[in-house]
This record gives sequence, C-alpha cells and structure tokens, in this order.
Amino acid sequence: MALLPILRFPDPRLRTRAAPIPEIDNGIRRLAGDMAETMYEAPGIGLAATQVDVHKRLIVIDISETHDELLTLINPEILECSAEAQVGEEGCLSVPGIYDKVERAERVSVRYLDLDGKVCLVQAEGLLAVCLQHEIDHLDGKVFVEHLSQLKQLRIKAKLAKQAKITA
Ligand code: ZN
Repeated sequence: MALLPILRFPDPRLRTRAAPIPEIDNGIRRLAGDMAETMYEAPGIGLAATQVDVHKRLIVIDISETHDELLTLINPEILECSAEAQVGEEGCLSVPGIYDKVERAERVSVRYLDLDGKVCLVQAEGLLAVCLQHEIDHLDGKVFVEHLSQLKQLRIKAKLAKQAKITA
C-alpha cells in the first residue's frame, strides 16, 4: 500500500475523462487499495482515480465515521437521478480548504462492478448520493467548483494560488 499524490485544482489533468476498466487485475486491486489508504489519510470521504492522475473509472467512498464502510466502485454509472434536489456544502481533496454549496439530486441509483467483478447496484440518498455524484463528476473531468459561478471560481483559484505560494 502506498499514499498517492493528489492533483490540485485547477490542474488541467483533472479535466481528463477517465476510461472504463476492461478487466479487474492486480494493478486495479492495488490502485483501489492505495486510493483507499490515501483517502483515509487525507482524511476524506471519497476519492476518484482522476484525482491521483490515473484516468480509469474507479472511485472509493467511505462516509462512515468509523472508516469501516469502504465502497470501491469500478465503472460506476448513474442509472437514475431523482427530480428532487438537495443543496449541501461540498469540499474536495483537490480543492483544499474550500467549501461551498452545490445542488445535486437527492437520490441516485448507481450500477458498478465491485473488486470481484460482480455487478452491484447502490440506491443512495443524502450524503452518499452527493458523494457518488461528486466522484462520478471527477471521472468525467469535472470538479465541484465548476458548478459554482465564474466569479466564485476566480476567487477560489486566487485563494489556492496564494496557498500554494505559502506552502512552496
Ligand atoms: Zn472531489
């Protein structure tokens, strides 16, 4: 297991659309393990492969406080979104220190493969539904701040540039 470096917004690599995983081999299992370790260490509740510069459709999520409900989703696909929406405050390991409100579907059904290649279906609501939509966005090259106004995005970029200068 290893900790992986996380790309930071507005790194252009975060805009890459991830490719489906044709076969679940040891490389994918290792990547999933490393991503889970990286997410727990950060700490965060979700991480997409895109964020660690691997452009394959794989995400890990654990919204539990006890860190024992790890979900590994390969080739996740949103089958259904509720018309009903929710607005929650989101953050992202690729956008450190920035939190803002984003509107998402209240409920989603997501089909995916688990690490054994079994087809699974998760019907989620609330925080898990937000997390799934946020992470699947990453696989499509989208970061949550891109749901915000242009003005907010400019402010966030300026703030992150300033942070980078201080830590460099
Ligand atoms: Zn994120």
